[in-house]
Amino acid sequence: MAAKTLDDVAVSGLRVLVRADLNVPVQNGQIADLTRIERLAPTIRELSDKGAKVIVCSHFDRPNGKPDPALSLRPMAAALSAILGKPVAFAEDCIGPAAEQAVAQLTDGEILVLENTRFHAGEETNDATLAASLASLADIFVNDAFSAAHRAHASTEGVAQNLPSYAGRLMQAELTALEAALGNPARPVMAIVAGSKVSTKLELLNNLVAKVDILVIGGAMANTFLGAQGVNMGKSLQEKDLYPTALEILATAKTKNCEIFLPFDVVVSETFAPNPPTQTVVVDAIPENAMALDVGPRTVHELIQKLPRIKTLIWNGPLGAFETPPFAAATNALADAVANATVAGTLISVGGGGDTVSALRLAGAAQKLTYLSSAGGAFLEWMEGKILPGVEALSAGFSNLG
Ligand code: ADP
Ligand code: MG
Repeated sequence: MAAKTLDDVAVSGLRVLVRADLNVPVQNGQIADLTRIERLAPTIRELSDKGAKVIVCSHFDRPNGKPDPALSLRPMAAALSAILGKPVAFAEDCIGPAAEQAVAQLTDGEILVLENTRFHAGEETNDATLAASLASLADIFVNDAFSAAHRAHASTEGVAQNLPSYAGRLMQAELTALEAALGNPARPVMAIVAGSKVSTKLELLNNLVAKVDILVIGGAMANTFLGAQGVNMGKSLQEKDLYPTALEILATAKTKNCEIFLPFDVVVSETFAPNPPTQTVVVDAIPENAMALDVGPRTVHELIQKLPRIKTLIWNGPLGAFETPPFAAATNALADAVANATVAGTLISVGGGGDTVSALRLAGAAQKLTYLSSAGGAFLEWMEGKILPGVEALSAGFSNLG
């Protein structure tokens, strides 16, 4: 990994600005899921235990560049305090006198959360003055927000130009897992790309086709690929305007020696509702008024049979309409096999994507994969082969000693 980590710096007595991702789901004013804060806690605890003055910043939601009390980070500071079992102070602004005074009051090991960085318009425009003001609060910068690293904002990219910068433990774990999956992976590599739409994952498919040995296409995306090859998909969800694109991807796969694996049986129904009457059919026999809602059991069986010779697996997208029973069956069966192979040590498995995380959690496999990324957009952009500005800024190091 090109970025320096907390192993490369003695933080005792230093003011450390940590970019966290405190953009947690909130419902009716309550934090609905603490996962992001729990995953951040090890970095904060380590810095505090080592005697740093820990200054945490983050964006939350979309306040449109001005203060909005409803979008304050105060509740997240309280949640962090509860998880750490330590007091956490709060500053009403992320720069200026409020922030400076709160930082000045910190003693070694103490923790402070700054108010929402997006209360300033300069955050999203990566304004150099805002970045410099944030940087002036600290001696070093630690970025622990991989999930925000696909954005070149003042608190993710700009500030790293002004301070010696390091990856936090969560960022480090994410980069290590993603490099193991796509950087220099153990081969053969299998990628599973599924979900609802080809159109949202074109760049992903194009990048993976060039890098992996087997590309499994499932979910409603498979409908479009099968339809493009002349299979009658009945009423299945597909994107017919993307038939030419799907055929191009198949042609590219051939030139790159990437095996494409498409379902050969599917579970169909005439209605898309919980527990409707279903039929399992080969793809050539999909009834005119039915839709494919899950990959069939024979296809899943064959996929599971392939797993023992696969060394690395990348998974984005549920194989079927998993939210509606019984169309999680294929996803669950494959998740089980992937979990077992991972636990047995024969497979490195890395998954990510909003619905993928939900589906693998429901399948009970989330804890058993090598790494399940909760980074959403940043995970997908990495898998698309894009350079993430927040990661790039860590590796490049800072250019301006100010
Ligand atoms: P992620 O968020 O992990 O990137 P996507 O958003 O691309 O995943 O895809 C997930 C969605 O795809 C789910 O809502 C699921 O119901 C839907 N889906 C998967 N297979 C089918 C299918 N055969 N027909 C309709 N929807 C499907
Ligand atoms: Mg999704």
